[in-house]
Parts: sequence; C-alpha cells; structure tokens
Amino acid sequence: MSFTEQEVELLSRQLPLWVEASKVRSAYGKTASYIPELAKAPQHALGIHLIDTTGTAVSSGDCSLSFTMQSISKVFTLILALMDNGEEAVFQKVGMEPTGDNFNSMLKLELVRPGIPFNPLINAGAIAISSLIHGKDSAEKSSRILSFFQALAGNDTLTYDMDVYRSESDTANLNRSMAYLLKDNGVLEGQVEEVLDVYFHHCSIQVTCSDLARMALVLANNGTDPVTGVTLIPRRYVQIAKTFMITCGMYNASGEFAIQVGLPAKSGVSGGILTMVPGRLGIGVVGPALNVKGNSIAGVHLLETISRELDWSLF
Ligand code: GLN
Repeated sequence: MSFTEQEVELLSRQLPLWVEASKVRSAYGKTASYIPELAKAPQHALGIHLIDTTGTAVSSGDCSLSFTMQSISKVFTLILALMDNGEEAVFQKVGMEPTGDNFNSMLKLELVRPGIPFNPLINAGAIAISSLIHGKDSAEKSSRILSFFQALAGNDTLTYDMDVYRSESDTANLNRSMAYLLKDNGVLEGQVEEVLDVYFHHCSIQVTCSDLARMALVLANNGTDPVTGVTLIPRRYVQIAKTFMITCGMYNASGEFAIQVGLPAKSGVSGGILTMVPGRLGIGVVGPALNVKGNSIAGVHLLETISRELDWSLF
C-alpha cells in the first residue's frame, strides 16, 4: 500500500516544520564520544526519508548526511545468521528477552546462567551473532554481510567508514571484555578477535537515511523488495526481527518508544533510526545528538510527532 493522498498532502506541508521543531531538541543531547570518531558528527543535524511500496519517497532535513549503521546493523546480521543457521541453532546462543539494562552492559552475562546474551540486539548478543555468520575467515564473513546489506539497500556502493571502524576497534575495551567472557561461557564460535573484527566492520557500514529507509521497506514488505520484486529474506525471519525491534530495538527505552511511536525500530549510537509502518513504508532517520539511553534525541521526537499526527501506531 502506498502513501494516501492525505498523507502526502500533510507530509509535504508539515514535515519540514516538524523537522525544524524536533531539531531544537538536539541541544539537549550529545553525540557519542566513547567511539571518538563519532563525536565529530554534526550535533544539530536531523534528516528523514520515507519510502512506500510503490517507490514513492518523501524526505526532509539533512538527508545527504552519511553515518555508520552501528547497532542498526544488528537487525540484519541477526537475519543473516538465521538464514545461515536456522532458528534452533541461533537461539541456543542468544535469548529472546529484553534486559532493561544499557546496550553495552555485561551484568547479566555473569549473573544469569547459562550466560548467553539475553537478546541479539544488545552488544553481547550481536557479538555472538557475528560468530554465527558463515564464511571461511573474518574477511569472507564481513564481505557476505556487506553484500547482503547492499542488496537490501539496493545500493552496491555501500561500504565501510574505515575511520569509524579503526576508532571503535582501538577503543573497544568493554566489547572486548564482553567477547572474552562470552568465549569463556562457551557462546562464541571461533577466535574472539576475528569475531570482534566482523562485528566492528558491520557496525561501521556507512549509509544515508534513504539507504535505511530502503532496508526498512524490505522488512515492512515481509522480506520482498517491493521495488525489484526480489525476495531477500524469508518471511519468518522478518517476523522474528520485527518482534525484537519492538521489544529491544531502542535499547532500554523500547517500552517508551512502543508507547509513544508504536512502530518496530532500531537505533544506533551514530544517531540513526530505522523504522517502518509494516506493509506500507520504510523510514530512515538521522540525528547524531543522543539522549541518555543512546537514542537520537531529535529523531525520537520527530517520530513521535509523525506517528501521532498520522496515527501510525500499530497499537
Ligand atoms: N558499535 C557500537 C558498540 O558496539 C554499537 C552500539 C550501538 O549502536 N548502540 O558499542
């Protein structure tokens, strides 16, 4: 289903105003600095791109800004791991429950036996998922991930931001400790440093809002790219991914986001948010200033406004 006439009319009139109103919120947030390279992002930028199943797109704000996917990539590595290994094998290594903790917490890995990550969208879970991607070495695994993302985005020029990759890899003491603990808990396959290399690579894949929107559209359309007609993901795995996006996609603010916006979504610490109106639209947002939970402060505000005004909540 495409945008309705009223939606197009309302969006073309109001979207630029809503973007400007939400942008103001950026002043109350901060760009991520624990990955030093991310601190350089333009704090006050805000952009949004929406695309429907007929390929009609609407965008507003700073849509030409490139940024790295960071945690948004976790949705798609989960899907690739499911496609490579099947459901049963994947859910021996990660659980299906939200943690209520920060995305990079390792508390429950120590405390709650059998010591597998609670879900695939927290760092520990995504690192475990990286170890499940098929390939003879980390280079082949990373290149399979990149090709999959290129197909989903309909953009074969997607590549890594190597400055962000190096910046993360050089400073990832917490993710490294987590990965070694996972290895000790018997969760990780293969060499820890190789698994981390795969993880840092997919977090540093560079996109724009329109790439995110196109990837989201494939999920919104149950795994088939409506623009090309090609099925890229089995429907069941899209269902799993979307469910995790509702319960864990916005970290420990997922409940609040479900109430205020009511759409499956995944955020990343570069300020990106991928979300969708199932069956209808793919949406990509970027706003690098983050709130205390690590979500784009202006991006969340913008999505709250749009969802309320257009009555898009699934609930
Ligand atoms: N690469 C980031 C990290 O591991 C991803 C985290 C995020 O986007 N929340 O810390």
